Parts: sequence; C-alpha cells; structure tokens
Amino acid sequence: MPVRARLYRDDALILRVQKLGESDRIITMLTRRNGRVRAAAKGVRRTSSRFGARLEPFGHIDVQIAGDLGNHAASLHTIRQVESIDLYGKELGRDYPRYTVASAIAETAERLTPVEQEPSLRLFQLTLGAWRALSVAEHASTLVLDAFLLRAMANAGWAPALAECAICGTPGRHAAFSVPSGGAVCPDCRPAGSSRPAPTTLELMIALTAGDWRVADASAGQHRRECSGLVAAHLQWHLERGLRSLPLVDRSGGGARHDTRRDGDLRDTESP
Ligand SMILES: [Zn+2]
Repeated sequence: MPVRARLYRDDALILRVQKLGESDRIITMLTRRNGRVRAAAKGVRRTSSRFGARLEPFGHIDVQIAGDLGNHAASLHTIRQVESIDLYGKELGRDYPRYTVASAIAETAERLTPVEQEPSLRLFQLTLGAWRALSVAEHASTLVLDAFLLRAMANAGWAPALAECAICGTPGRHAAFSVPSGGAVCPDCRPAGSSRPAPTTLELMIALTAGDWRVADASAGQHRRECSGLVAAHLQWHLERGLRSLPLVDRSGGGARHDTRRDGDLRDTESP
C-alpha cells in the first residue's frame, strides 16, 4: 500500500537541474537538514509557473517538498513551493570563469553526498559560503575553489597532511609531497616519485584550509597554481571518477594543464 507523501520544509542549495519531459525538471539540492535531495518540479516552463527562475543552479531557496523522508525506495519527491533567499546564479551566469568554479563546487558537493537524505550541515555551509564569496568576488575565484575543496575533503575525512608527515605523523613542515601517500612526507618516509612543492605553496594550502584569507589573498600566482594542481590531484585520487567541471576552471596565467597534473609531473629531478 503506497505511503502518503508528507510535506517537509527546508532551505536548499540547487546543485543541478535536469529536464524531465517538456515542462518539468528534476532538481538536485543540498538541503540544510536533510542532506542531498532530488525532487521533481512540475510545469516550471509554463508562464504561470510559481517557480520559474527560482529553480536555477546556484540558487539558495526556501523550499516545501512532498515526499517520504527516510524511504529511499519511494517515488521521486515533488517540489510544492519555492521562495528565493539568494539566487547566486544570476550574478555568476554573467561571468564564465566564476560560473565554472561554481559548477565545480556544485559537482563536488553532489559527489561528496553519495547517499541521499544523509544530513551534511558542514558541506551545506561550505557550499553556501563559497557561492556567496564567488558572487561578490570577495577573493580570487580559484582561491575560493581550493579553500572549498580543501575543507570539503577535510569534512569527508581525507584532508591532505600539511603540518605533519602523511605516513608516520612526525609533526613539522616537510618538503616532499606525495599524493598517493596523502600529503606532505618526511625525508624518512618519502616515496619515490614524490614532488617538492615550494614551501610557500604548502603554507597557502594551510591558510586556505584554516580560512586565513590575509595570507591567501597576498599569495603569488605561481603558488596559487601549484596549490591548485596539488588540491586537484589529491581530490581526483580520492574520487572514483574525475570531476567533469574541474578541468574547465580557468587558472589564469597558468592554463588548464595545471588542473589535473599528478605529482609525477612535479617530480623533483634529484629524487632517489
Ligand atoms: Zn614520515
């Protein structure tokens, strides 16, 4: 016997919008209290639609949904009402570099919530904070992206080791970095093929993880690009499939080749 759908209300970040027939949409959202939720929005293309522009990517909305929470086998939830809180897509849609960064953040948030309806308040806050910072161009967009990725990875339990050896845990700043080992490595543990990033790059990664924007905003382009390369390599190592949107992000001055570069490409010429 079918369970009668109940109404629930939450605020949500729109990660993805897919077409469903002529006028309907499937909206993938990261909600504040109920984790990732997919729900149908009916008739969004009709001129009389109550939803219209409120259901676009990168929107922060207050939403009322009909669905059976806790029953994953139940049919798709349905959006009943939407109020906009902040529609960051309006601003970000005008600027392609920031739009691609917002897309990479949305895709990461979806990938880091493999199970629907599993609350992840921290990831919700990180995603919202990153979109807000992007929309007002508060910091360089690639710094916003890397700060988001570092913190989201920390929240998932696989932050790169930066202030201790990833293998033996010896505290301190270590010069070598090994993506397969999980971050900075001491001279005793250092595996073949480790890279040797600039010490300033590791300081930038520590600053981005901690939210020390004074240090991050003052960083030089070469360290930002090296940081992006290490963060992307660390992320891709942990995700089963690579992100589609990450290679599209423009690393100004460095080009796309830095995006997916693995630590083998950073290999130190004097490695053992
Ligand atoms: Zn060690």
